[in-house]
Amino acid sequence: GLRVGVLALQGDVREHAAVLTALGAGVVLVRRASELDDVAGLVLPGGESSVMDKLTRRFALRDPLRERIAAGLPVYGTCAGLILLADRLLDGIAGQQTLGGLDATVRRNAFGAQNESFETRLAVPALGDAPVAATFIRAPEVVEVGAGVDVLARLADGRIVAVEQGPLLGTAFHPEVDGETRFHARFLEQVRAAV
Ligand code: GLN
Repeated sequence: GLRVGVLALQGDVREHAAVLTALGAGVVLVRRASELDDVAGLVLPGGESSVMDKLTRRFALRDPLRERIAAGLPVYGTCAGLILLADRLLDGIAGQQTLGGLDATVRRNAFGAQNESFETRLAVPALGDAPVAATFIRAPEVVEVGAGVDVLARLADGRIVAVEQGPLLGTAFHPEVDGETRFHARFLEQVRAAV
């Protein structure tokens, strides 16, 4: 069957693994480069992007991850994971790097402090008529996208919070904490199309 990875260095790994398992995928928790060889897609979870950045370098995962992404690996990044996927980062900590792949600029912590986290309902036409319950936890926003990037969702004020570029999917919010499975299903469709 289909085997997909969840980058398991830090963050809300379990929540993603649970959604993917419920959708019938085999899940590999990726902590080392050899585990990356076994997967046909990868989820970059929420958490703290600066910590994940440091850990990918410490565990020699940065270059293998960048190579797989460049080679077309389907990837779904939520929140900190979206930050990791973006080519350009604003308001990172000193020296913070991203993996890149997604032709977009994201601003980290764009909605203020942790206590300014919020939930909202978002229209995401690509996923059908039912709105998405979206939880934003110290979330980034997408401030600019390249020509090859589709905007899947915006907040009422126009800020971009979900994007797609070929096999790369990113959301500023966390569908995995609300029982929303359509983004993961969409990611798995990309994985099936790529294998
Ligand atoms: N503020 C976090 C960061 O920089 C992201 C928060 C999240 O993933 N919920 O990476």
